[in-house]
Amino acid sequence: MTNTPPHSEVAIVGGGPIGLELGVALQRAGVSFQILEAGTIGNTIAWWAPQTRWFSSNERISIASVPLLTIDQSKATREQYLNYLRGVVSQFDLPIRTFCRVQSIETAGNALQLISSCHDQTVTYTAKNVVLAIGGTDFNRTLGIPGEQLPHVDGYLRETHRYHGRRVLIVGGRNSAVEAALRLHHVGARVTLCHRGPSIPEDGIKYWLLPEINGLIRTGRIEAYFNCQPERITEQSVDLKRHDGELITVDCEDVLTLIGYGQDKTLLRNAGVELIGETQRPMFDPQTMQTNVPGIYVAGTAIAGTQTSHYKTFLENCHDHVDRIVADLTGGNYSESEPEFMKQIEALPES
Ligand SMILES: Cc1cc2nc3c(=O)[nH]c(=O)nc-3n(C[C@H](O)[C@H](O)[C@H](O)COP(=O)(O)OP(=O)(O)OC[C@H]3O[C@@H](n4cnc5c(N)ncnc54)[C@H](O)[C@@H]3O)c2cc1C
Repeated sequence: MTNTPPHSEVAIVGGGPIGLELGVALQRAGVSFQILEAGTIGNTIAWWAPQTRWFSSNERISIASVPLLTIDQSKATREQYLNYLRGVVSQFDLPIRTFCRVQSIETAGNALQLISSCHDQTVTYTAKNVVLAIGGTDFNRTLGIPGEQLPHVDGYLRETHRYHGRRVLIVGGRNSAVEAALRLHHVGARVTLCHRGPSIPEDGIKYWLLPEINGLIRTGRIEAYFNCQPERITEQSVDLKRHDGELITVDCEDVLTLIGYGQDKTLLRNAGVELIGETQRPMFDPQTMQTNVPGIYVAGTAIAGTQTSHYKTFLENCHDHVDRIVADLTGGNYSESEPEFMKQIEALPES
């Protein structure tokens, strides 16, 4: 079924923090807009493990000048932040359509048509301009080894309770893997960690996790294999191969592969946005955030493509995109010789 809702000046694709922040800024500038979100409000944060805490301070992840307050001034959890985002949407009465995935964007005269799948219906939105605030963590990375599709293997830590008393192998060595290892240890799981690096990296790991994980590994309460990678998963075990060639078999009942996330390029490609470098980030003008397709902009962590395991583009360094886009759409000027956020994405390895 196809229907055509009213035209808006701007369509924002993505109802994450940057998409919502842009919505408030457009509202304040008197520009009509519609937000289309593939899942729930703040969908990326919604799939974090329950009670995961932000690394960033609250003032750096608050949006649209709405204070993000926690009762004890601590960094917000996933739940507190989702609560906050719902509050922002209600406070500004933002027009957002959830569970509506934009699949392609086509030019139709002076307008852009967004072909979307909304609750199993095909809906075509039209707008003069489109902002892709689609993030960069659409899917979890996979190992590409036999057995990865078995039901006891998961790329997300969804909750902790089910792991009580179970032997769990966690693959990865950055925040998601380290946090999962600690939390599952504390719910009474027998945790083994496998990381391809020589140790838990000190840079970029939440500072409150590092001493604890290192202490638990040192005292043998969490078993850890470094310089190694999984080769095969079976119902009862995982074969690990060390970089020196040694093979180790670890018995386990559950496997968590927490090795990072990737950006789905489908929409960018379907819209004709050029993708560049190893991270396949969208091409855009850093002054205006407009891509190579006239009228299509990009904002938020979407600008960095698929980031390596050492993330450099975060919500906290993306707020600036909103001001640039609003300035460009309203005929204003926003000039800064070299935007700070370009240093971060250009620091990523690109071929
Ligand atoms: C465990 C974890 C902890 C993190 N901690 C921090 C931290 O401390 N500080 C920090 O700054 N960052 C952190 N991040 C990264 C954080 O998730 C991002 O910085 C933040 O979500 C980026 O906001 P965004 O609006 O750019 O993108 P997102 O929040 O990813 O929002 C993009 C939205 O677009 C939607 N979307 C995608 N494709 C489509 C489509 N085709 N049609 C419609 N909608 C679509 C998605 O469903 C999503 O809701 C963390 C990430 C993880 C996984």
